[in-house]
Amino acid sequence: MYYAEPLARLIEELTKLPGIGPKSAQRLAFHILKTDSEEAKKLAEAILLVKEKIKFCKACFNVTDQELCEYCRDSKRDGSIICVVEEPRDIVALEKTGEFKGVYHVLQGAISPIEGVGPEDVRVRELLDRLKGETQAGQRVKEIILATNPNIEGEATAMYIAKLVKPLGVRVTRIASGLPVGGDLEYADEVTLGRALEGRREM
Ligand SMILES: [Zn+2]
Repeated sequence: MYYAEPLARLIEELTKLPGIGPKSAQRLAFHILKTDSEEAKKLAEAILLVKEKIKFCKACFNVTDQELCEYCRDSKRDGSIICVVEEPRDIVALEKTGEFKGVYHVLQGAISPIEGVGPEDVRVRELLDRLKGETQAGQRVKEIILATNPNIEGEATAMYIAKLVKPLGVRVTRIASGLPVGGDLEYADEVTLGRALEGRREM
């Protein structure tokens, strides 16, 4: 232990964050130490508040501070087309394209046997329930667009869902390739992602 206990503890906690190694954690801890108490308090409060206030939309599993997220609440959006994504941040990427006016379904992950993530660990069953039921406007879902990441896990997840959904008589499409293979949706630029959405193909 090179530092006084409170500082060592902060560094240890920061090291647990994704993408933060011991060096970055140290840099952040010293930054926090140098900022005034008011700023440090704001950071601590923001962390507590996000855990207290943010929950998952009961329809699509996006993050929200209400029962339904802003997209599910918006009556101008077409509830009969559902875009299926892995994470809430993928919705942000798709919204930036301005191309999609339907609603979303967040799987909260992708199927990955290597990492021990099975179909029951992502929100596939909840998606099937939505397809069997009616939308907010009392319609049936006409199409699902599989916008999982263009990597092995994302492709496997898309194939798995397509196989389950097609027998329900719902159109199943997959966003076009042309996205950087192996990359994450969130890193694709708006134009590329907009084109991938437009050029989606039947599965
Ligand atoms: Zn929602």
